[in-house]
Amino acid sequence: MKKEFCELPGCENEIPSWRHGNATTCCEEHGKQLKKLREAANYQKLKATANPSIIMYRQLKWIVDHYGYEKLIDLDAVNFLGINWAIKPDVFQRDGITGTKVQDLGFIISKPNNIIIYKL
Ligand SMILES: [Zn+2]
Repeated sequence: MKKEFCELPGCENEIPSWRHGNATTCCEEHGKQLKKLREAANYQKLKATANPSIIMYRQLKWIVDHYGYEKLIDLDAVNFLGINWAIKPDVFQRDGITGTKVQDLGFIISKPNNIIIYKL
């Protein structure tokens, strides 16, 4: 049988034959540590690659789930979402007004302090 070594960085132990067939580490403890390491790496990757417009889309979705489309919503009521209004993935036109388009959602900030979200 081919010798396999523990995949935990820094450990050079062989994977003992008594470990289960698809074991990638020398022991249970190193298995747990490797899993933690991978989860942390995945989380970092997710954070680094999270697209601001995807984050904005999720935030807008949350608003329409709670308030509905084409409703005048007080911006203060959704302030806690921390939406970055400076992001403009795309634009759309509605009644002569230019709004911001995020995938299939569009929104217009109207004075004094409201937002209207449209399904495009
Ligand atoms: Zn090990």
